[in-house]
Amino acid sequence: MKIDGTRLWERVQRLGQVGRAAAGGIVRPAYGEAHAEAVALVAGWLRDAGLEPGLDETGNLIAVLEGSEPELGAIALGSHLDSVPHGGAFDGALGVLAGLEAVQTLREHGVTPRRSLAVLGFADEEGNNFGIGVLSAQLWIGEIPPERFGTIRDRDGRGLDAYLAAFDVPGVPRVARPELAAYLELHVEQGPVLDGDGGAAAAVESIVGISRTTVTFTGEANHAGTTPMALRQDALWGAAELALAVRDLGRASDGRAVTTVGVFEVTPGATNVIPGGVRMRVEMRCPDETRMADMRSRVEALAAEAAERNALRVAIDPWHHAPAVPMHPVPLQATQRALVDAGLPERTMPSWAGHDAKVLARAIPVGMLFVPSKGGLSHSPLEDTAAEHCAAGAQALLHAALRLADDDRL
Ligand SMILES: [Zn+2]
Repeated sequence: MKIDGTRLWERVQRLGQVGRAAAGGIVRPAYGEAHAEAVALVAGWLRDAGLEPGLDETGNLIAVLEGSEPELGAIALGSHLDSVPHGGAFDGALGVLAGLEAVQTLREHGVTPRRSLAVLGFADEEGNNFGIGVLSAQLWIGEIPPERFGTIRDRDGRGLDAYLAAFDVPGVPRVARPELAAYLELHVEQGPVLDGDGGAAAAVESIVGISRTTVTFTGEANHAGTTPMALRQDALWGAAELALAVRDLGRASDGRAVTTVGVFEVTPGATNVIPGGVRMRVEMRCPDETRMADMRSRVEALAAEAAERNALRVAIDPWHHAPAVPMHPVPLQATQRALVDAGLPERTMPSWAGHDAKVLARAIPVGMLFVPSKGGLSHSPLEDTAAEHCAAGAQALLHAALRLADDDRL
């Protein structure tokens, strides 16, 4: 059973015209006019596929292909329909359209899966209106109850409740959310890995965790001319040593972690004064929590050693830690095998960016598939993925959906 790669590609191109900006790229924030136009367009295609699309109470587009045992819960195939300002045609849109393509292919072959399949287009993933990323997925799993919708406000003080009340797409009725047994998302990688080595698609093993630590070195500000080198307590010496040690931690991880010092503030910051203080922020991203815990304690030890060597005091504040989110083993296995079903090599990689699946994983089993982003570009008008890779990803998504629709372990 083959998906129609040409049809998928034409839809990606057509949807990519919705919200097209004169200055380049796509501007399609959730609940805006372009989003409504996108919903109307995709809803039309869903109807062409024989489905009955609707909008749920928070503006997500949904259409369900009923399975032979709908009481088992549906497998959702989706992603988001909004874009970043001047974004590309693939981020989010591809996952929704590939879900539609998979379901339409099944219908055209007269196949009724055991579990129902739901095509899902989330309204707000990018966080343009309220500065809250993956908002729709959080609303879906009930982390933000309706009575708080009025407290989520945009820059002008307009609440989510007002946005929802005003969001209407003619011909697309309100529908109840289906009960989900699992969620599958095809997404562009948004990084350079697959494109770099010619890979066509990969299963996602885990969405990376993020740790952020503020390290403050304190020495003694003094005259940059009269203070002999041996008598200095230069806070920058310790900070510079730590910055390079942090780089080396990332480099030594063999591609399993990235490390960044993105904030580096030297005080008092004068040419003729020895730095008395440096405040720096260390950020680390890693798909596995054991390694992350090890790197976190390494940073603390390295900071203490750098302080000791340079006669400094050091304060360490590990203020943020969002753990890595592993894909559920059942959908992970389904996505891995689906690659082989689709005639592709089996391959697994981490996701270095967040996605709707990262939030949904807190409530239901999730799995993800990646296809390449040319040049690793995303959140850019230059975002691009080859038609053949879109088709390969959609084909794998179809196989993963079929596997999960029939899997008793969910
Ligand atoms: Zn996205």
